[in-house]
Amino acid sequence: MDTMPRYSVIEGKNPREICLLRGRGCQWRRCAFCDYHLDFSLDQEANDQLNQQVLAQVDGHLGRLEVINSGSFCDLSTKTHQEIRRICQERKIGQLHFECHWMHRHEIEAIRHFYGDRGIEVTIKMGVETFDYAYREQILRKGIDTASPAEIACYADEVCLLFGLQGQTVESMERDIQTALAYFRRVCVNIMVENSTPIKPDPTVIRGFVEQLYPKYRDEQRVDILLNNTDFGVGA
Ligand code: SF4
Repeated sequence: MDTMPRYSVIEGKNPREICLLRGRGCQWRRCAFCDYHLDFSLDQEANDQLNQQVLAQVDGHLGRLEVINSGSFCDLSTKTHQEIRRICQERKIGQLHFECHWMHRHEIEAIRHFYGDRGIEVTIKMGVETFDYAYREQILRKGIDTASPAEIACYADEVCLLFGLQGQTVESMERDIQTALAYFRRVCVNIMVENSTPIKPDPTVIRGFVEQLYPKYRDEQRVDILLNNTDFGVGA
């Protein structure tokens, strides 16, 4: 039985309901720091059932919904997308946020149309983790084959950054935040937490972030900061 918290309401900045749905799984699955792609099932009928139960909790009171699924929006079935669209229409949700890996960037236009035809605006959030190309691709194995933030911004509206890793500094993290704010509407900073991968959080880097950058950016309306990866109230 699935006992993971999958529905929550994010108060404060950019208030929205949030659902953690389940799909066929991330198609990239190579990021060195990630083990949450393990939340998947190839049984899309079972996923649809679970997703329907989660979506039933959405009441639309904020007019915005974020759907995450430990992968990309295209890992969710057509049936689940139809249900999301139905719920958004019925509950007057005009803004919908999805995640997307760079490898699916050419599928974004179609999903914007699928929802846009019914007056629902889709916002795409992409995990970039850092704009340091060599670090991102050689160490984190993120799979984004461009060093240009402008090119990423042709597809993504918002980005996620990952801080608290060995080799990062206060200066490099601040540069990443500044680049994100220059090219994207919003940025979500995630602090690395211990998981089952060999990439470990670096306490010195985290302390540098918490002491020097957190106070500076915590009230910035376009920056979300997750000191713990369950701070949005979903996941485990
Ligand atoms: S794209 Fe996302 S879900 Fe897939 S491996 Fe990377 S971080 Fe994990």
